[in-house]
Amino acid sequence: MTAAYPNLLKPLDLGFTELKNRVLMGSMHTGLEDRFWNIRKLSRYFAERAEGGVGLMVTGGFSPNLVGQLAPLASTMNNRATALLHRHVTGAVHDAGGKICMQLLHAGRYGYQPLIVSASATKAPISPFKARALSTKGVDRQINDFVSAAKLAKMAGYDGVEVMGSEGYFINQFLCERTNKRTDKWGGAFENRMQLPLEIVRRMRKAVGPEFIIIYRLSMLDLVEGGQTWDQVVVLGKAIEQAGATIINTGIGWHEARVPTIVTSVPRGGFADVTAKFYGEVDIPVCTTNRINTPEIGEEILAAGKADLVSMARPLLADAEFVRKAEQNRSDEINTCIACNQACLDHVFQAKRASCLVNPRACHETELLLTVAPVSKRVAVVGAGPAGLAAATTAAKRGHKVTLIEADGDIGGQFNYAKRIPGKEEFFETLRYFARQIEILGIELRLNTRADAASLALDGFDEVVIATGVKPRTPRIEGIEHPKVLGYLDVLRHNKPVGNTVAVIGAGGIGFDVSEFLTHDAAQHAEGEQISVLDWQKEWGVQPDFEGPGGLVEREPTASPRKVYLMQRKTSKVGGGLGKTSGWVHRNSLKHRGVEMLRGVSYRKIDDDGLHVTVSSKDGKHQEHKVLAVDHVILCAGQEPFRELYDELANLGMTTHLIGGADVAEELDAKRAIRQGTEVAAAL
Ligand code: FAD
Ligand code: NAP
Ligand code: SF4
Repeated sequence: MTAAYPNLLKPLDLGFTELKNRVLMGSMHTGLEDRFWNIRKLSRYFAERAEGGVGLMVTGGFSPNLVGQLAPLASTMNNRATALLHRHVTGAVHDAGGKICMQLLHAGRYGYQPLIVSASATKAPISPFKARALSTKGVDRQINDFVSAAKLAKMAGYDGVEVMGSEGYFINQFLCERTNKRTDKWGGAFENRMQLPLEIVRRMRKAVGPEFIIIYRLSMLDLVEGGQTWDQVVVLGKAIEQAGATIINTGIGWHEARVPTIVTSVPRGGFADVTAKFYGEVDIPVCTTNRINTPEIGEEILAAGKADLVSMARPLLADAEFVRKAEQNRSDEINTCIACNQACLDHVFQAKRASCLVNPRACHETELLLTVAPVSKRVAVVGAGPAGLAAATTAAKRGHKVTLIEADGDIGGQFNYAKRIPGKEEFFETLRYFARQIEILGIELRLNTRADAASLALDGFDEVVIATGVKPRTPRIEGIEHPKVLGYLDVLRHNKPVGNTVAVIGAGGIGFDVSEFLTHDAAQHAEGEQISVLDWQKEWGVQPDFEGPGGLVEREPTASPRKVYLMQRKTSKVGGGLGKTSGWVHRNSLKHRGVEMLRGVSYRKIDDDGLHVTVSSKDGKHQEHKVLAVDHVILCAGQEPFRELYDELANLGMTTHLIGGADVAEELDAKRAIRQGTEVAAAL
């Protein structure tokens, strides 16, 4: 049964307990941790993943005290009542045959609240509050709070704790000179600065006894100036082992780092070599992490002897049955995390409950129920974009007989263009997942078929779901018919040749993606193939041997084959509407390729000379007329719903449902399309 992934699915003996495989579900804050009334939802969320076979799970971060909270009223483990409440979680997980550790996370200066404390009085670029420097005794109190929290986690029935020592949080702030300017015993030389985590682990082990897992998340690569050197990382790791840790997990990059660490453009397993370099320095098991999203890549890393365990966090949000499917050689059925961050991290940063773009049930397990339908109906779904695919597969899972009708020769809708963008190769996986589900669920797929009202009525379906998507908007600009004007579909779908100087009208998600597409040299790597780790390290300035402070090196500019202007009418920041946790990566990547971003633009006309624009200053007081002598103008000016069919069917009196872009094109994304498709089909 485990032939395909012998290393990934091999049990791991920790001496006093055994993990059934090498998959650790890494810590993710979901928002369910913060309020006691969500405890049953949290329990079900973890129980489904335990049922799915994962070896060990780690909760989102719980602060050991109030000053360490991520935000006011955020998850904290500092009293008996909270500990007893958590028996719901641990009971549900253990009943499902799983194991779970609580992550103890002290935010330090990253807290989004006024009580924050740190090694020194500093302000992080990602918090509006300045941290207060702790007194020598104050540091001691934080250590004791970590220990108390571990004891409470044990009382709650957890199998262990993870001490969060990375990502730039409290412990990391003590380790590095950039944030630790102390002159007492907790500051100065590295030997002093590292005493905080050592004391935490030492006192914790003494308090919880030998048969309790202590994972220490070691910041192996800080990716910030003034970060630790490799030698310091190794010294600390060895000392942490001596202090009593059971497992060392890998931490990569502070949150304030300007190197992306988990977004989709980071190549798969892009940081496994950091763990590999550390592996062998200690005798306890070592776990690797970041952008590991398939059983194949997990197996490859373990087989190459780079670690003992692999941590996957978001992939388990995307598919609770990830491990079970791997065990049963059904990895082609895994709903793969595409590392978009759109419904998980972006939600958490907006204080919204996390979910998953490809799996809207994530963190909604008790609410979005996919029960067997009381009556099996004949359902037609028109349009096989993300919305239609979600609706068709959900309806079929519930026992309906589904026909999916698609005008194109392939399923996927706009995802077929998204997947062509360099750095978005993961989008292929979503299409692979849906294609396989269509097969397994016996959905009748009619490709190259444009549905019309008359034929749908003749077929006599009980329900029709219209998921016909969107059509690109054509803005009213003088000269819009000029031959140098192309739509984004001309570029991404019809492969029309594009000249050396280009103006992109519209700086939303698609304008950014088209600019990314145009500034990559197609000859550099084949479509669908991710950038190599080495090339990616050069692009973002990561030292390939990770030796120096923070592991940073000068970035090597990536030459673009063309000059691109990316424009919007708004005077706000270009790309300001992109994802909270990924927008900065897109902006930074395009700037690095020399893309000129213009805001406050009015488009006057397009003619043989190029694009005539007026650019206004932010306050609107100054205006400059320009002619951009471009070879092509590419329209990425948003979309409009494409739904004539809906109105025709309604006129015929048929029961129809409108979803995705066909419903509302404004602020449409695949997250909404898939969620709406799933919800509509869950109610059929
Ligand atoms: P569509 O994807 O437009 O699908 C509609 C389908 O209906 C099409 O396949 C069409 O052929 C078919 N159809 C239409 N009429 C008929 C008919 N009469 N009969 C049969 N079939 C018909 N979103 C994100 O969330 N994150 C991203 O990173 C992201 N990146 C993107 C990058 C690019 C380059 C593009 C173009 C889009 C991106 N999107 C992204 C947007 C996302 O793809 C859309 O929001 C999503 O595809 C909308 O889904 P939909 O099913 O409503 O419509
Ligand atoms: P969008 O985000 O709404 O952007 C449309 C752009 O066109 C804006 O920059 C807008 O800015 C401009 N515009 C609108 N009307 C115009 C007009 N009449 N004339 C000239 N310019 C006009 O839409 P999109 O880029 O088409 O993307 C569609 C959806 O796909 C988005 O909602 C997005 O979430 C999703 N998507 C997401 C990603 C991602 O990485 N997360 C990537 C691609 C797509 P001004 O009005 O200021 O000019
Ligand atoms: Fe992965 Fe995107 Fe889902 Fe987050 S929302 S788990 S990144 S697919």
